[in-house]
Amino acid sequence: MKQFFYSLSFFLFALYSYPQLQTADQIYINAKIWTGDNANPWASAIAVAKDKILFVGKDYAGYKTGNTKIIDVKGKMIVPGFIDNHTHFLSGGYQLASVNLRYVKSPAEFISTLKNYVNSLSDNRWIQGGDWDHETWGGELPRKEWIDSITGNHPVFINRYDGHMALANSIALKLAGINKTTANPAGGEIVRDEITGEPTGVLKDEAMNLIYAVIPDPSQTELDEYLQRAIQEAFSHGVTQVNDMSSYGGWPDLATYRRAHANHTLDLRIYSFVPIYTWARLDSFVNQNGRGDDMLHWGGLKGFVDGSLGSTTAWFYKPYLDAPNTTGLQVTDTILLRKWIIEADSAGLHVTVHAIGDRANDWLLNVYEEAEKLNGNRDRRFRVEHAQHLTQQAIPRFAQLHVIPSMQPYHAIDDGKWAAKRLDTARLKRTYAFRSLLNTGANVTFGSDWTVAPLDPIAGIYAAVTRRTLDDKNPNGWFPEEKISVEQALKCYTANNAYAGFMENKTGMLKAGMLADFVVLSDDIFTILPENIRNIQVLLTVVDGKEVYRRKN
Ligand SMILES: [Zn+2]
Repeated sequence: MKQFFYSLSFFLFALYSYPQLQTADQIYINAKIWTGDNANPWASAIAVAKDKILFVGKDYAGYKTGNTKIIDVKGKMIVPGFIDNHTHFLSGGYQLASVNLRYVKSPAEFISTLKNYVNSLSDNRWIQGGDWDHETWGGELPRKEWIDSITGNHPVFINRYDGHMALANSIALKLAGINKTTANPAGGEIVRDEITGEPTGVLKDEAMNLIYAVIPDPSQTELDEYLQRAIQEAFSHGVTQVNDMSSYGGWPDLATYRRAHANHTLDLRIYSFVPIYTWARLDSFVNQNGRGDDMLHWGGLKGFVDGSLGSTTAWFYKPYLDAPNTTGLQVTDTILLRKWIIEADSAGLHVTVHAIGDRANDWLLNVYEEAEKLNGNRDRRFRVEHAQHLTQQAIPRFAQLHVIPSMQPYHAIDDGKWAAKRLDTARLKRTYAFRSLLNTGANVTFGSDWTVAPLDPIAGIYAAVTRRTLDDKNPNGWFPEEKISVEQALKCYTANNAYAGFMENKTGMLKAGMLADFVVLSDDIFTILPENIRNIQVLLTVVDGKEVYRRKN
């Protein structure tokens, strides 16, 4: 009997280890494949069986049977599916269904675009989204008087694209009880008219919560719709996985993803983060439910040290050039934030915190270092979301402390248009310091911060490789010494991101045994002129071995 089991297990072993016995469902051939795997960087064929990669190389004949589908990609480039390190995914889905003020060029266009949207609505719903940017019309903040007469009975709360300030109309201010006598909440500001002292409608950072508190939550049906819209948008850009920093407070977001997964409508991989102040809730949730699977997982917490550069709320050592009476804000009580980071880490949870200003980054690196000392050695993978403005001393600390800079390169070519009015050259030089960080050995990761920037890794790679600001005023790159290679940028969007989400054995590389997530591109991203990278299109997106997007025409 024992003998029989030995020979049976030997037979099974032989079956699994003899490649010719495994056959592919599909084989993509005639491709120029960048695998991201240093041991086997280039290939021409990729064979897929169910949800996994069976083979990446040249001689695929042994994996083919009469039932295998052969797909000739005609010399196009294949890369691993893009992973986005930082999204506000459901907001993105909401935005796709809402008014878009991102590219309006004047107050008049702002007003007419909003008016057209209002006219398209058949009910009296709240109007949100917008993603306006006052820098596109010279920097004057919008005012409620611009929009009161055209928004009818709709309460309006439309945000700047970075989410750090928003404009309310008079109805919304009234519903929230905000008037001349309302005090600024800690970590926020109610912008007021210089002469009358009346609120202008613009609320910054924590002050925005005064309005958010009175906006009704979206229904489950609405959230489910936002998710499906967002997933389709992701696939059209070759994004196969996101690390989601949440849009509706984290828990409703996670519930939406779990609902979709249970209904078999989640075909994009999501790592879902919840707010750090809820770490104890996440701890018990993980104890009860584990941490999810390859399609949806959780166990990560997101916090904030400071605000943003665009809203002059990023926390610096020195004042802003154009706002000399402020050095920014700490948007969370730092005593509490430090405590949450240390406690969450001691519970084995994964911590990431937003830090933009140089002082915010130093503060956070110090707390991470302290947490490691207190809680001992562990594979914890602390992250800093944005890591945008660093002191010289901070740059090598990421690698030394094994802290992951989670960066969004498109911000660099966007902020680069106007950042010089706000920060001196000494500080600008260490802004989005991609190359300096990679040179120290840090596991730099890339993403979009969608809806702050487009959910488009090609645009992000273009930004990191060229650093050409969106106004094209820096053709050789804005602080060009921080430009990186195409291969480095691809790694930051694939393998490095897989690692930052504890998925490095499953995704981020094209290698036998890993999940079959990959993208077919219209052009060779390695040989195309860098300034033309932005024109590359995603032709096909594959997740779990299934084609989830195919470009029409
Ligand atoms: Zn964000």
